Amino acid sequence: LDVHDISVLLNYERGATEPRFRHAKLREVVTAGTFRTILLQTSIWDEAKAPRTGFVFEKPRFKRNAKENDEPDLPSNMLPQPIPPLLQHLTPKQLETYYWQARNHDGCFGTVALLQHFLDLFPMSIRLRVRVVEKNKPHEYQILALQRKIIEFHLMDQKSLTLAAVLPDNKTYVSGSDSPIIHAVIGFPASNGGSMAVLDLASLQFGDVGRGFKGRGIFVLEPVEDYLSRLNQYATSNTFERAKWSDRMTDAPESDWLREVARRVKGRWDKRETVHWCGHCGAPPPHDRGLMMCKTCKRAYYCDAAHQLAAWPFHKHFC
Ligand SMILES: [Zn+2]
Ligand SMILES: [Zn+2]
Repeated sequence: LDVHDISVLLNYERGATEPRFRHAKLREVVTAGTFRTILLQTSIWDEAKAPRTGFVFEKPRFKRNAKENDEPDLPSNMLPQPIPPLLQHLTPKQLETYYWQARNHDGCFGTVALLQHFLDLFPMSIRLRVRVVEKNKPHEYQILALQRKIIEFHLMDQKSLTLAAVLPDNKTYVSGSDSPIIHAVIGFPASNGGSMAVLDLASLQFGDVGRGFKGRGIFVLEPVEDYLSRLNQYATSNTFERAKWSDRMTDAPESDWLREVARRVKGRWDKRETVHWCGHCGAPPPHDRGLMMCKTCKRAYYCDAAHQLAAWPFHKHFC
């Protein structure tokens, strides 16, 4: 199992059905000052010193038909139609960041559990192929899936604040206030004494600083040295060097939904030779056409030129 490729699929299927934001449309993004579409009274927002990003999402109030109910949530369908003037300037890359920034709130344990549910669908002896770019060179190794480690540590004084309000229930999710938070990632110790790779599937909760290799990807899979310097962009200090390491999570959050996500990813993985997916975002081929193929290796596929470009800094090392 290729860790990079399964991570692309796990994140796609997780985001597409995330219960807190299911079918929600983005109404407003605020980076300074006050919200226009809701009356928000919280000192966390008003008094924050760190850079702030606030979102207002709205779920539909009426019963949806079956076809709409199956439709995946995507960065590209997150805007209401017609697009409100407040949101018309957003680029696809910004929409992608905002989509994950809101959904990844409190998401790290969910992603750790999701990978565990997924790997539990395979035999114990299954091997993982880990591919990272280390000092600008491709580095690849294999380990047994059961050798992976869950790494839990604290982040103190986060360098950004995210607030997402979801209407009409007025649920509010805040990340990045002053208090320490626990963050969890997966480590893949290298067998040959080389550097361990770290997988942070919920990295975009920290905004653009959580983007993957060369600031393009929507999750992080990189050598631990690179991850340690990334942590300094997430927060002022951290306890990674004193982290708790464990083999398995026992009380996994949102287990029913995440098990279903894991099963869907397994279904797509099993059909990987015939039904491809976008190497950047994990989307399946659109109904009316195929995906674009990488002309050089003929083994990677993309939604469009933009997603091919976003994946290229990583893919070029393995193309
Ligand atoms: Zn794509
Ligand atoms: Zn290629």
